[in-house]
Amino acid sequence: MTDEILIVGGGFAGFWAAMAARRVVGDQVRVTMASREPVLQMRPRLYEAKPETLGADLLPLLDAAGVKFVQGEATGLDLARQTVVLASGANLPYARLVVATGSSMHRPPVPGAVAAYSIDSQRDAIASDRRLGEIARGIARPTVAVVGAGFTGIELALEMRDRIATHGGEAESLRIVLVDRAVTVGSELGAGPRTEIETALAAAGVECCLGVTIIALAANRVTFAAGPALDADAVVLATGMVASGFVRHVPGERDALGRIIVDRSLRAPAAPEVFVTGDAAAANTGDGHRALQSCQHALQLGRFAGENAARDLLGLPTVPYAQPRYVTCLDLGRSGAVLTQGWERTISKTGAEAKVLKRRINTVVIYPPTNVPGATLLALSSTDPAEQRLPG
Ligand SMILES: Cc1cc2nc3c(=O)[nH]c(=O)nc-3n(C[C@H](O)[C@H](O)[C@H](O)COP(=O)(O)OP(=O)(O)OC[C@H]3O[C@@H](n4cnc5c(N)ncnc54)[C@H](O)[C@@H]3O)c2cc1C
Repeated sequence: MTDEILIVGGGFAGFWAAMAARRVVGDQVRVTMASREPVLQMRPRLYEAKPETLGADLLPLLDAAGVKFVQGEATGLDLARQTVVLASGANLPYARLVVATGSSMHRPPVPGAVAAYSIDSQRDAIASDRRLGEIARGIARPTVAVVGAGFTGIELALEMRDRIATHGGEAESLRIVLVDRAVTVGSELGAGPRTEIETALAAAGVECCLGVTIIALAANRVTFAAGPALDADAVVLATGMVASGFVRHVPGERDALGRIIVDRSLRAPAAPEVFVTGDAAAANTGDGHRALQSCQHALQLGRFAGENAARDLLGLPTVPYAQPRYVTCLDLGRSGAVLTQGWERTISKTGAEAKVLKRRINTVVIYPPTNVPGATLLALSSTDPAEQRLPG
């Protein structure tokens, strides 16, 4: 038996889980994070230009906080022996485990979907960007199809003209087609921001192809159940996310996104030493809603999972996860942004005013702090939102 707290996954939830666990246990217990790489991929920014710059080095922060990092792909979980197995064959023991392995894009189950571009990971976004560069340099009057008119697809479609311009292309002749089976754009965002979104899409000259059934995909073609196929110079998917692979090793009930339905302390009910967090967890936000697969929720879910794994190990009572405030800030490209409040998504800011906030979220709020002492870093991992304000 070890006294180690092990966090698998170094995304937003995993990083803050490690910090919170370390804060609670002090020097009494080892805290280890295992992940594919010691880099926090800034997934919410991957619709932007220069995706190769959108990662944050976690090693200096983990070092400052006294968290050990192990690089590797977690491929197995032995609940009886309390170990996580890595692809290298290494076994990582745990007394409490936090599963923070996040999500990955759900590719439509149609032929050719694997060939289409996406912006799900930094690597995918870099490959998409490389194609946009080729298009900008070599194709007159190009067409880009974005499949999926949800949050990510809208942001990407509205950024596309400037993405082509960044590569030196003639942006105004670009044809952008936003495709979805839903009959409205941003259907998961509800009616609140819809008019703002539709106005921005019209102003940006984005064609909407809605209420369609896709039967095949390729890197350069979308084929529909009815009507002519759409030929494009790039097809980029933004078709929603599901919990990523490792979480399948955790026993218990799941929701439709493959997330483990956790209890209020974020524990997996069928595996009492295992806590699940971020995009891998279906958690009650404390006000009757289910946490979304969002960075905003993952940042807080991570803090609670780390805190509770540590408290549980020390025999302290756990604290129920709560997400008291919920906002949505959607980038609308040249039309600015739209900020909504609450689960009803009531608009509170639009245009340039909301864009200032979106830039701050994308460049400051979601980043781990740098150049702060270890103690400050740990203080920021508190589950009390009042204590999480960034310096400055
Ligand atoms: C293009 C895009 C735009 C988005 N825009 C927004 C937005 O505007 N606002 C918002 O709130 N959210 C947004 N999101 C969602 C947000 O990025 C996710 O909800 C968030 O990243 C979830 O954090 P996480 O830590 O749970 O998981 P992730 O960020 O997915 O991190 C999981 C980590 O675990 C690692 N990992 C996974 N499996 C293994 C394994 N088997 N072994 C070892 N390591 C593993 C991964 O490499 C990664 O480091 C967007 C997502 C995308 C893709």
